[in-house]
Amino acid sequence: MSADLNVFITKERIESHTDETTDRSGEDENPLAGMTVAVKDNISTKNIRTTCGSAMLESYVPPYDATVVRRLTDAGATIVGKANMDEFGMGGTTETSAFGPTENPRAPERVAGGSSGGSAAAVAAGEADLALGTDTGGSIRNPAAFCGVVGIKPTYGLVSRYGLIAYANSLEQIGPIASTVEECASLLDVIAGPDEHDATTHEEGANTDYAAAADGNVEGMTIGILSDLVEGADEQVVSVFEDAVADLEAQGAETVEVELDSIEHALAAYYVIAMSEASSNLARFDGVRYGTSGGYDGNWNETFAKAREDGFGEEVKRRILLGTYALSAGYHDKYYKKAQDARAWVKQDFDSALSRADVLASPTMPVLPPKIGESLDDPLQLYFIDANTVPVNLANLPAISVPAGEADGLPVGLQLIGPAFGEEQIIRAGSALA
Ligand code: GLN
Repeated sequence: MSADLNVFITKERIESHTDETTDRSGEDENPLAGMTVAVKDNISTKNIRTTCGSAMLESYVPPYDATVVRRLTDAGATIVGKANMDEFGMGGTTETSAFGPTENPRAPERVAGGSSGGSAAAVAAGEADLALGTDTGGSIRNPAAFCGVVGIKPTYGLVSRYGLIAYANSLEQIGPIASTVEECASLLDVIAGPDEHDATTHEEGANTDYAAAADGNVEGMTIGILSDLVEGADEQVVSVFEDAVADLEAQGAETVEVELDSIEHALAAYYVIAMSEASSNLARFDGVRYGTSGGYDGNWNETFAKAREDGFGEEVKRRILLGTYALSAGYHDKYYKKAQDARAWVKQDFDSALSRADVLASPTMPVLPPKIGESLDDPLQLYFIDANTVPVNLANLPAISVPAGEADGLPVGLQLIGPAFGEEQIIRAGSALA
């Protein structure tokens, strides 16, 4: 069905190392036995090219597996391909991919969302049971919402990023995408927990049984409605969101209105920080050690410039330029430092909101999935659709997107945000809906 949706950049398999014929009496030996997984193409796979959706890395073949890939194959899963994505994760529609956009399985003339568009579309189209995405400012939740599946952005530090090709380190996490909350939680169970190769990982949350939390019991739970984020969304989206909230109330949840004073600064702060980190991370792609060669003709500066001119797409270049500017002497305090101050404010605001509610709720995306080709011309428009997802990354909190219903036959996602390492609460509340 989906051969032409452009879900995979590279369709190669990595079989599980586990032997299915061995004794499986130990209950959790192979929790993902027989499951197929699509892996976003910025996560390293040994001997299988890993492009980040970029011409720059068109023929880059990593010499090692990311920790999450090892954990999947150790748990009995088979990886079925490397999923399409916005170039280096920069975008929200998978249209900045050098390999062309991914079509939305629910409406092929529309985008699958992004940047993990291939991952969410693979699950929605039945090309894989499960998928891994990455979320720097919404890239798991956005395509999950647009494709009508479930995605979790874990707390910063819950999942190892060893082997992830970085876009903006202080913001991003690898996380699961699946058709149901329970399957998504099972995948989180397998990938969560400390890794000696990633010093940002924690013990905290490692031994939680996430799948068991998907019990659908919201009785007595307090859900804070993020009214600023609801107001900014399209009418059709709001109406689906409100019905889903009413459903949660009918199941015994209490709701309270929550306002975050800092929220209007989140989007600007996110883009300054993300672009600054990107400009530094992407400096390594010079066509010598990594990236397409610019062809040396006696001048190294020209060689590097040519490699970067040819290898990077428009959006990536725009961000490198803006990020370099924001970090440059004389502007650092005006942009980067200010953005960090706003980030601290957002964190504080979330902490105080989460002292009044168990989880916070908003529409995941303020809009329905746009048509392919509709949003590329106006980068600012593309940044605005991240308004509801980026505050969560600034605050390093966990969030889930679950299908809330449909408008015009298109899926609408509901976002639930929890306290740090409070994945159980968002899984529990989310499972009451999907
Ligand atoms: N759309 C956001 C950006 O372009 C988020 C991307 C992501 O989470 N990788 O930065």
